[in-house]
Amino acid sequence: MTGRVLILGGTAEARELAARLHDAGRPVVSSLAGRVARPRLPVGEVRVGGFGGPDALAAWLREHGVTAVVDATHPFAERISASAARAAPAAAVPLVRLERPRWTAQPGDDWRRVASLEEAAAAIDGARVFLTTGRQGLPAFAHLDAPWFLVRCVDPPMPPLPPRHLLLLDRGPYSLEGERALLTQHGIDVLVTKDSGGEHTAPKLRAARERGIPVIVVDRPPRPGVPTVPTVEEALQWLA
Ligand code: NAP
Repeated sequence: MTGRVLILGGTAEARELAARLHDAGRPVVSSLAGRVARPRLPVGEVRVGGFGGPDALAAWLREHGVTAVVDATHPFAERISASAARAAPAAAVPLVRLERPRWTAQPGDDWRRVASLEEAAAAIDGARVFLTTGRQGLPAFAHLDAPWFLVRCVDPPMPPLPPRHLLLLDRGPYSLEGERALLTQHGIDVLVTKDSGGEHTAPKLRAARERGIPVIVVDRPPRPGVPTVPTVEEALQWLA
């Protein structure tokens, strides 16, 4: 397969794939949603902002001579993946999903898996919560006035937020030492995370395991039935 590749991005894997294709001389354009104020930009051509839904994305693919699409968006970015799954066949362009594997519990982990942010909020029984589910999901926790939350996100969130919280603006990758220090400094007794997978945000899981801190893990949403590969290497093979 040759020709121009569209990478739907916003992840480390998407940036790595863009760099590898760019180095190999393959025409590539990366697409970002434009949600983050100062995004980490991939090398090569970049476009920013929503397409306007599946029909508009299909039109964009045709107009820009795209011959393959890699949906390398975050495991919890549901709408853009659904849009790509409709747009690519409509434009007769092959589509592959690049999605990092889920995290799996290790010996010593005390995980409780839940299906949604709302279920995660209902499952909290700690007093001091480290909430790492991202700024868009904070309204699901806003009605909880008893626990205290350490809320970590990349950009400042919009209200509503839980009334008792400390905001920590930071962006991964995070170090194990840093995560251990946060748990200690803030007396954390429960961690809440999405099952994002990957290494960049995994040290918090190890730090929680070491301390015997329970973790509420929000499962990934269901995905459209699109051929899926777990690594950049396999996405490159698919593109070849
Ligand atoms: P989403 O709910 O699936 O997308 C909402 C809308 O934003 C889409 O319908 C689409 O608009 C636009 N959009 C999303 N990703 C896009 C992309 N890569 N290029 C162009 N338009 C895009 O997504 P989200 O959960 O808000 O995440 C937004 C972006 O942040 C994603 O690209 C994702 O990879 C990244 N991200 C998300 C998370 C997370 O936890 N959700 C974490 C880290 C990074 P139109 O319908 O108008 O095309």
